[in-house]
Amino acid sequence: MSFTTLGLGPRLLNGVSQMGYTDPTPIQSEAIPHILEGTDVVGVAQTGTGKTAAFVLPMLQRTPTRQGVRALVVTPTRELALQIHEVVRDVSRHTGHRSAVVYGGVGLQPQIDKLRRGVDVVIACPGRLLDLHSRRAVDLSGVETLVLDEADRMLDMGFWPDVRRILGLLPERRQNLLFSATMSPEVLKVVESTLHDPVRVEVSPPTTPVDRIEQSLYPVCRTQKTDLLVKFLERREHTRALVFTRTKHRADRLSKQLERKGVASAAIHGGRTQGQRQRALEAFRSGRSPVLVATDVVARGIDVDEVTHVINYDMPNTPEDYVHRIGRTARAGASGTAISFLAAEEIAILTEIEKVLGSTLACEDLEGFQYAPREVPSAERGVKTAAAAGSGRPRTRTGRRGGKGRAGRRAG
Ligand code: AMP
Repeated sequence: MSFTTLGLGPRLLNGVSQMGYTDPTPIQSEAIPHILEGTDVVGVAQTGTGKTAAFVLPMLQRTPTRQGVRALVVTPTRELALQIHEVVRDVSRHTGHRSAVVYGGVGLQPQIDKLRRGVDVVIACPGRLLDLHSRRAVDLSGVETLVLDEADRMLDMGFWPDVRRILGLLPERRQNLLFSATMSPEVLKVVESTLHDPVRVEVSPPTTPVDRIEQSLYPVCRTQKTDLLVKFLERREHTRALVFTRTKHRADRLSKQLERKGVASAAIHGGRTQGQRQRALEAFRSGRSPVLVATDVVARGIDVDEVTHVINYDMPNTPEDYVHRIGRTARAGASGTAISFLAAEEIAILTEIEKVLGSTLACEDLEGFQYAPREVPSAERGVKTAAAAGSGRPRTRTGRRGGKGRAGRRAG
């Protein structure tokens, strides 16, 4: 499936390719044709699946310009509102749509001024939108498309009364799109009361392709992670290595450290503009920067074939993130390697990850690396001492033996 066959017009396609998207994600392939037809759609999809573009692209295609507010996106947080607005802005550079983002906690006047100048699309948090409406700064009586994004969170955060009030300000006849990571009974109730004959599109989180991914752990003390990474990359086993850090600050710092040590790399995270992210991805895709340092926020959008190695410089916060991260390698039938640097303070999350995987990850040491004293990661793992390299510390190399070093089944 390609974007061209989904029914999007040339201007939007232009925007899509400038954003660096080559193929639609599953939620995009499924949702876009229905939305273009004008059908109400319920999308069950988490952040990271490409859901924003899945509604923004067809919504813009159906939204006329210069006729007042015709499309409204309601979302629970300022963060999300800004992210959605960024996608809208990127794409509408070619379509001429004008958009405004409104959320609380900042001055009203700039938002009022922006709305008064005329916009086609409004992205809003509920409370501020109602506030602006009561001040007659925004007219919602012409809205043709409504998007309720992250409906489950909106309910959790107690925004439903506000959202219901907003619904009362909209014309009866309109297209409704609702996205939610989960389909709780509360969300279902909203769907039933708000949407008309909706089509449900759903993407399940990617299944673990563990079979094709060689996974292993490299116990190391926190302060040696960068040196270990450099040593690892110097072995040049990788064609493209995707390196994950816990925070955007750490991503930037690591990328700089790598540059100083002569390793060409790019960094990509939520703090970067769409343009910067796109350039980093391009450099990675083309092979100019064979190392890409990333955070989880953007991981799910990284759709590059031939990532030979995923390196967890920092362990992720959740098992789901681990699965998503390692799923960036071994694409399109290829095999891949996922290695995780494990510092003592990351053992708790490792335990959770292994529970989800249903297997224990094998420990490895990098040959020839001068290890500083390490804390005992786990007695059963076999890497017991904190000795320096070459001092006869016990090793497990099960990761490379038999069966291409897959995560071994947990015994018993
Ligand atoms: P979302 O689920 O909307 O938060 O999107 C997650 C990430 O995926 C964002 O960084 C998007 O820029 C990226 N993304 C969305 N659609 C695509 C696509 N078709 N190809 C590559 N990346 C995408």
